[in-house]
Amino acid sequence: MGDAKDVSVVEVQIKNGATIAKEDPVVTLETDKASMDVPSPVAGVVISVSIKTGDKVSAGALVATVEVEAAPSAAPVATAAPAPPVAPRGPAQAGSVEPAQNEANAVAPGRSSPSAAPIDATPVAADVPEGALDLVVIGAGPGGYTAAFRAADLGMKVTLIERWPVLGGVCLNVGCIPSKALLHAAKVIEDAESMAGCGIEFGEPRIDLNKLRAWKSRVVSRLTGGLATLAKQRKVDVLSGEAKLIGPYSLELKSGAETRLVHFRQCIIAAGSESVRLPGFPDDPRIFDSTGALELPADCRRLLVIGGGIIGLEMACVYDALGVKVSVMELSNTLMTGCDPDLVRPLQKRIEKRYEKIMLGTRAKAIDAGKDGLHVNFEGPGEPAAMDFDRVLVAVGRSANGRAVGAAAAGVKVSDRGIIAVDKQMRTNMPHIFAIGDIVGAPMLAHKATHEAKVAAEVASGLKAAFDARCIPAVAYTDPEIAWVGVTETEAKAQGMDFGKGTFPWAASGRSLALNREDGITKLLFDAKTHRVIGAGIVGPNAGDLIAEVGLAIEMGADAADIGLTIHAHPTLSETVAFAAEAFEGTLTDLYIPKKAPRT
Ligand SMILES: Cc1cc2nc3c(=O)[nH]c(=O)nc-3n(C[C@H](O)[C@H](O)[C@H](O)COP(=O)(O)OP(=O)(O)OC[C@H]3O[C@@H](n4cnc5c(N)ncnc54)[C@H](O)[C@@H]3O)c2cc1C
Repeated sequence: MGDAKDVSVVEVQIKNGATIAKEDPVVTLETDKASMDVPSPVAGVVISVSIKTGDKVSAGALVATVEVEAAPSAAPVATAAPAPPVAPRGPAQAGSVEPAQNEANAVAPGRSSPSAAPIDATPVAADVPEGALDLVVIGAGPGGYTAAFRAADLGMKVTLIERWPVLGGVCLNVGCIPSKALLHAAKVIEDAESMAGCGIEFGEPRIDLNKLRAWKSRVVSRLTGGLATLAKQRKVDVLSGEAKLIGPYSLELKSGAETRLVHFRQCIIAAGSESVRLPGFPDDPRIFDSTGALELPADCRRLLVIGGGIIGLEMACVYDALGVKVSVMELSNTLMTGCDPDLVRPLQKRIEKRYEKIMLGTRAKAIDAGKDGLHVNFEGPGEPAAMDFDRVLVAVGRSANGRAVGAAAAGVKVSDRGIIAVDKQMRTNMPHIFAIGDIVGAPMLAHKATHEAKVAAEVASGLKAAFDARCIPAVAYTDPEIAWVGVTETEAKAQGMDFGKGTFPWAASGRSLALNREDGITKLLFDAKTHRVIGAGIVGPNAGDLIAEVGLAIEMGADAADIGLTIHAHPTLSETVAFAAEAFEGTLTDLYIPKKAPRT
């Protein structure tokens, strides 16, 4: 809100006597451009609330008086409305768990102003070894390199440690980018095939796997090479080797036969995740994970994908387009768990026609690795017959690297599943050690990692910042694409939320039909009282791009009228977002939706 004056109070979220935690939302403010929750700078008990819904407040206004929990003095602390970012505070002293309590009058909501000059962020602790590096970042994936670059931009001396020879982590090297390059190739093949019904026939595609792999690698190395340049430009020191934390301020760095000791004042752990391996299967190179699948082995004519989640279905899509007979096996009864079933249906219908077999509620009981193939026995409904495959892709999830990086030796709490717990400032229980990205758990997505990275870097350099995103979009780049953001319909129902829905089927979209597709849906969910958008799901070509508009709408607190009255260009797929809002409002003219009879 910066220095906005006379901002409307749209909701007061605390009451007298309520116990609040630090960062709990206390009040929702709204200007004509945005609305946002203001977090509490302190934990404690609310003694009195000084504002009410409908009031107008400016920076510095008293919101509430709170008796601070375990404050050095028992004196009540006043919680103020957000002010423009003030000179940021340094991080907590090493050893103390919470930052100083007297920051109540200086809360900058959301992320801090990048222009605020960082103060010296060095922890003052007797046991920081001499010669300790200012800030060490472990792992150069989207989380690690973003944190390193942001901290360097804020004036910190940053050391980035990576065990692989190139920067970019899973995302750039063996994840998001190579998979999307191959999915683009798959889309071109399928689009060409689908034009046959429109009078344009191409012959069978001639696929040169070597050239396809080389193109994918060129895309990757352009990006990873770019990162190396960006690191140099920012004077970020890159150390090569595998890091293992051995104490609160120390790690061992192993590079080839050499091991050296590195000390740090602050550390950001961004060591990511690994593919989960299923126990009990033979150790055979033909049973691979997504990294192996991205290599496109030439002799794969029949593929089994174990795991019907996003990664498994994306790879299935690639192999299917390349002419491989694909089967998908999933333990649960639905594909893409977590996504609303109506959004998955168009994809399921399409792949049921194209793939050899889709087995739900099924488990691979045993795999025999024979000379001529992998013989797989299944256990599931209808007792599926055993099948032979050239390759088996195991895509059953990813596990965080918290244990592998030795976080516990630094005093950092790590779960059995390798996940490191963090607060909204991305601090672990050790205040000078931060963790970001896949290593802090779901959703394991690159865009979550980069946002967390900026928060960690800003807090480490002394700025006030917190991860306060209202929503994180998820996208499956399958054909059709599926994207969702905010609350899903399944969650809204399970939580008994009072919500309404606007749906627009793409069969009524001129642009979709002109693309020779009619299987898409755009669905928006709204709070029944305020009509604010709370979630959305889109299935169809480019759903992953279209969902961004709804993510912004949720962040800005937009309602159905805001979206419906925003003029969307015609004919575009983006119109379907506005039409779904109009369908909810009852103003849609592109479809006839009979009015519900009033209840008697
Ligand atoms: C096939 C596939 C497709 C995907 N597609 C998408 C997508 O389309 N969109 C999306 O948002 N997400 C996607 N993801 C997920 C995404 O790649 C991850 O969420 C993201 O890379 C996480 O970033 P990170 O920085 O936390 O960790 P990572 O990218 O895993 O990076 C961690 C880095 O730390 C290094 N490291 C680990 N341990 C050490 C150590 N001890 N010492 C030194 N270095 C270490 C690793 O070598 C690695 O470079 C995909 C993942 C896969 C596997």
